[in-house]
Amino acid sequence: VTPPATVVHTFADAVRRAPGHPALAYFDGRLTYAEVDALSDSVAGHLAARGLARGERVAILLQNSPHFVLALLGAFKAGAVVVPVNPMYKAGEVRHVLHDAEVSALVCSDRAWESYLRECAADSPVRIALTACELDLQTRTDARVLAFERVTPPARDADDLVTIARQGHRAPAGRDLTGDDIALISYTSGTSGTPKGATNLHRNITYNAERQRTGLGVPEGGTYFALAPLFHITGMVCELVASFANAGTLALAYRFEPGVVLDAFAEHRPAYTVGPSTAFMALAAQPQATPDHFASFHAIGSGGAPVPPALVERFRAAFGPYIHNGYGLTECTAPCAAVPTGVEAPVDPVSGTLAVGVPGPDAVVRIVDDLGREVPFGEHGEIVVRGPQVVPGYWRRPEATAETFPDGELRTGDIGFMDSHGWLYVVDRKKDMINASGFKVWPREVEDVLYTHPAVREAAVVGVPDAYRGETVKAYVSLRPGAEAAPADLAAYCKERLAAYKYPREVEVLGELPKTASGKILRRELRSPKA
Ligand code: ATP
Repeated sequence: VTPPATVVHTFADAVRRAPGHPALAYFDGRLTYAEVDALSDSVAGHLAARGLARGERVAILLQNSPHFVLALLGAFKAGAVVVPVNPMYKAGEVRHVLHDAEVSALVCSDRAWESYLRECAADSPVRIALTACELDLQTRTDARVLAFERVTPPARDADDLVTIARQGHRAPAGRDLTGDDIALISYTSGTSGTPKGATNLHRNITYNAERQRTGLGVPEGGTYFALAPLFHITGMVCELVASFANAGTLALAYRFEPGVVLDAFAEHRPAYTVGPSTAFMALAAQPQATPDHFASFHAIGSGGAPVPPALVERFRAAFGPYIHNGYGLTECTAPCAAVPTGVEAPVDPVSGTLAVGVPGPDAVVRIVDDLGREVPFGEHGEIVVRGPQVVPGYWRRPEATAETFPDGELRTGDIGFMDSHGWLYVVDRKKDMINASGFKVWPREVEDVLYTHPAVREAAVVGVPDAYRGETVKAYVSLRPGAEAAPADLAAYCKERLAAYKYPREVEVLGELPKTASGKILRRELRSPKA
């Protein structure tokens, strides 16, 4: 795999190959590669004219829209580092990022700017603000969003992103980035403590995007659907940059709403998408979903969170496509192992876990014990990764970097095993292990059993304090539309299928389980008493 040096090069290659091909599709609007090139040049020229220097940080707080892409490319062309931030973040979380990454410029919706971001920015290093009109974005079904006809005046003391993009500024010269420059500071969602910024280099990103292009075999120019949020590494790399690498069309639909996404599938006929397994569960639960919605797909991927084998089977039986599992972390710039297209992942006969894939051609994945010694095939240990997609560390955190990346190798904090055929399995996160009277219980195994129950839509298993056992197993589930199941029956169902120390002593049914913005079920919230 020989990728272009930077994301800017990946994009420029596509502009050269297919200037008139749609790069972005947003509801019924389209922008060609040549148009996106010119519009993002103009954003870059504006940022430079406003005094943004090479290497400064630009935070983007936007949902999936063409505006996100123009801001991203504009910032890169100005030589900046991008800090993608979840636009649902609350003021305290945004402040942490603005200070920690020492952000100079902020791109957000005008509504967010007015309501709280102006205030967050006031006591931060931010000196440039660009806003996109939220109302325009929400008008959606209409191509005016891309024609950029404003319906409301721009926010006070911020520049309007769309106006700037249309002003025809030229990108600044002499700001060329290299593969070793930091492209993104990606804050982990903090399921493991204060958010730290992983520094994804340009070459980390272009490597994984190029690998997607060569590995998936989506025909050049095909449509990628951004099911994952672009502010998360999976959406950024496997959808946005991978689509550019393939001179493809990136179809966007603001944020994940199952009904809207199904309509977008029907309209854009995508060849590829990847998202968390919870997104596929939500799509499958839509009464209007039919096999035709999925007929255009060449491949479908799921990654960033566990994929229950029962979901894969149910989905294939109902709609046709096989969901390809993939494993990765922000710290390795999305995937480092995936199930190859056209191949089915094995299910471990003992635990019932679906393999996450085989390590990519250049990623070296090892399973080690507490002393860092490699364990034999089939034995549990921590997954460690070395390869061209592994980031050099965390932004300005030498201690956390030394701890997580000893000798440049990523300690994932995930427990897994490798079988003798080279398939990698993720058992669970080290810190999510439940210790019931000294017996190890991995929540995933119990969840996978719950997912085989016909009434269960989502399941999350956590350890709760127990006077007798120290900790005991508790399951939270949400049910499929119209389905009914009593908690005691669900517990009995697990008891029949799992060792006595593993089955949930308590089952609680919720309307919906709490999730991160990227769609992962948040066990942490279920563990805390307020849940
Ligand atoms: P934090 O690192 O703060 O906990 P996060 O969960 O959002 O936040 P990511 O980098 O997005 O961090 O997620 C990486 C984790 O997701 C992995 O360490 C692993 O636990 C889990 N994961 C990713 N892919 C899979 C998969 N295919 N199967 C099971 N788990 C997966």
